[in-house]
Amino acid sequence: MNKMFKIAVLPGDGIGIEIVPEAIKALEAIGEKFGHKFEFTEALIGGAAYDEVGHPLPPETLRLCREADAILLGAIGGPQWEELPVHLRPEVGALLPLRKELGLYANLRPCMLFPSLLGASTLKEEVLQGVDIMVIRELTGGAYFGEKHHENLMGGGEKATDCMTYTSSEIERIINLAYDTARKRGKKLCSVDKANVLESSRLWRKIAVKMAAENPDVETTHMYVDNCAMQLIRNPRQFDVIVTENLFGDILTDEASMLSGSLGMLPSASLGGQVGLYEPSHGSAPDIAGQGKANPLATILSAAMMLRYSFNLENEARLVEEAVNEFLERDYRTPDLMEAGKKLVTTAETGDIVAALIKR
Ligand code: NAD
Repeated sequence: MNKMFKIAVLPGDGIGIEIVPEAIKALEAIGEKFGHKFEFTEALIGGAAYDEVGHPLPPETLRLCREADAILLGAIGGPQWEELPVHLRPEVGALLPLRKELGLYANLRPCMLFPSLLGASTLKEEVLQGVDIMVIRELTGGAYFGEKHHENLMGGGEKATDCMTYTSSEIERIINLAYDTARKRGKKLCSVDKANVLESSRLWRKIAVKMAAENPDVETTHMYVDNCAMQLIRNPRQFDVIVTENLFGDILTDEASMLSGSLGMLPSASLGGQVGLYEPSHGSAPDIAGQGKANPLATILSAAMMLRYSFNLENEARLVEEAVNEFLERDYRTPDLMEAGKKLVTTAETGDIVAALIKR
């Protein structure tokens, strides 16, 4: 009998509730085609959870995640929850503890270029041709998790501090994972830091240099983050796998998303613990929420990553990616990717078309 894959579904806020059902359509289409059984159980997270039960990460949600085979997350946050005390804000109160509790220290963000989207990027086609980058972002350390202080100064004014802290073992495990990933791809790894200024980056560089010597089959380079931000749009083809700390990775991947045409195209997988978490790299996009304008392809591509990394279903993952490619080849576009002469579709229509292409 086929195994039942238990998926915890956390739509969250804003466009999260619009894009997640479209990824479920894709997974159901895969189930139908290959005879796999997926069981979807929904739970509250983020602002929606705060409004309903008073906390952005209810214990039942965390329990469901721990018991699941994989987690599908939409996005969380929005202006209506920004004034809450810090520990109750969706990002700080739900997303960061969820990653920490589940030990999800590695965030994989593949930046792939679908040929038919060459014209959708703000960058020139000749710069984009052949781009295929995997950014590996450390997810449970650095400034987002370090000590935080906010105080009023005696003489007036305020002082705020976020400590960027890393231990050698945290750095080693993420770089190790990056070498494993690079070995399965183009065998090139670029370790990104700010070792000319930051102490935590000096430790990062020291360990990265040592590990480069231990992994001679992979070509390793080291780059400062400011240079990397520039190189990503000057000559992105030079990169295969990039590994970097939490804050740098957060910023560089939003930048890298423009290589693939839109933030709505960048999927992600968070790995390292018992259960993997899959979510688009973007946020809850309150500016377009509820209008059927959100691009669900990053979430659908995140579901493909779930099939690959959590369920070991490589053929099924490829089929989802091929269906997304075919959708774009047939000139369907959500508003963020729209160009003259293309066919404008809504969020739900996108999910329907991709699911139908999977089932063919
Ligand atoms: P955002 O990623 O939500 O949106 C940035 C811009 O990209 C907006 O113009 C938005 O309309 C557009 N965009 C994003 N996703 C899109 C999609 N799928 N299709 C079409 N367009 C898309 O970032 P923001 O505006 O800085 O943040 C909004 C909220 O999301 C904030 O509360 C923020 O804290 C939160 N956030 C959550 C996550 C997460 O849940 N992992 C990540 C980032 C930001």
